Amino acid sequence: MKEDTLLVALGRPTAAEPGPINYPVHRASTILFEDLDRYLERHSSKGDAEEKERIHYGAMGSCNSQSLAEAISAIEQGCGSVITSTGLSAITMAFTAVLEAGDHLLLPDSIYGPARQFCLDTLRRFGIETSFYDPTVGADIEHAIKDNTRLVHTEAPGSLTFEMQDIPAIVEVAHAKGALVTMDNTWATPLYFRPLQHGVDISIQAGTKYISGHSDLVIGAITAADPELFATIRNHVNGFGDVASPDDCFLALRGLRSLSIRLARHQESAYKVVHWLTACPQVKQVLWPALETDIGHELWRRDFSGASSLFGLALHSEDEKAIKAMVDGLRLFRIGSSWGGYESLIAGNRSRDILRESRPWTDTPFLLRLHIGLEDPDDIIADLEAGFERLDAFQSAGA
Ligand SMILES: *Cc1c(COP(=O)(O)O)cnc(C)c1O
Repeated sequence: MKEDTLLVALGRPTAAEPGPINYPVHRASTILFEDLDRYLERHSSKGDAEEKERIHYGAMGSCNSQSLAEAISAIEQGCGSVITSTGLSAITMAFTAVLEAGDHLLLPDSIYGPARQFCLDTLRRFGIETSFYDPTVGADIEHAIKDNTRLVHTEAPGSLTFEMQDIPAIVEVAHAKGALVTMDNTWATPLYFRPLQHGVDISIQAGTKYISGHSDLVIGAITAADPELFATIRNHVNGFGDVASPDDCFLALRGLRSLSIRLARHQESAYKVVHWLTACPQVKQVLWPALETDIGHELWRRDFSGASSLFGLALHSEDEKAIKAMVDGLRLFRIGSSWGGYESLIAGNRSRDILRESRPWTDTPFLLRLHIGLEDPDDIIADLEAGFERLDAFQSAGA
């Protein structure tokens, strides 16, 4: 079956008997059994039990988390997915499932910020050492790998600064040195890049973003390339008691149904807006790998089949007050964290707050981040145009 068909067909009840088109929300802590024998059987089932047979208590997953997992695993072409409570916990669970005291972990300098902090604070206390590498290294990652490097994490394009990574090159070197490779693929989603097909061992999604698509829940997914790794991760996540609510799983699966068509529109609008932006005199640089002049463009074109609508925007203006005048007056772009929803969003960071060891962002003192939503792109452009007028007016008033 082709991908668009899978997105519609997966994770649904079979047609064997009359019933609702979607699994209803199975809200439950308690799962009831018809007799004590069956209760005992289910509670003593081993780690290798069939996924369906594992449901016996709300904290161990639900019919809704299983149908979402089944759908995501098929789209990722993996050997099984585990649904977690947040995108961040998908990262921290994947790391802690495979690392132990004495191991060394390599993170791209452009990793999602809270995951960086988790490794420095929590993993350090458990005897796991973290170091950072330049996300653009490619095969030169070899020089960063030590004898005890167990895991090389990747994320492309990177958070805030949008560097692309040569995933196949990193995978080849890491595997030759006996290390696993994880990838946070939230930006592209499994529709525009398939980590496992490029040799990655564990693919991670913040389902909070494009999969859910409506900015109203947090959820994560971890997908493994082999069954053993899948069982390890699933038992680890169960052991931690990390679970997503049935309601959020239901909504995320509903979001997944329209992912392909939403992404196509996000991409088309982002093209229009980005190309308009690059012609504006106020704009210094747009950080979006689908842009022909982006330094990561060749890698993106080689490995990815599309681009989502989140990008960085560096302005010539170094006047934070002028930038605030521009941003605060926007009408379609609201200010807030997260992205991947139906609506346009804007956020920003002072460059000194963007933590980097190998490749600090020093090109501009302030870096904006835009998410292009499903509004008409002409209206989005008009909103930004009015923003640039406020920026110019503020600057000439101050000059
Ligand atoms: C948002 C995000 C996460 C974390 O997802 P949450 O559900 O918000 O915890 C992880 N990685 C990337 C790249 C993200 O943008």
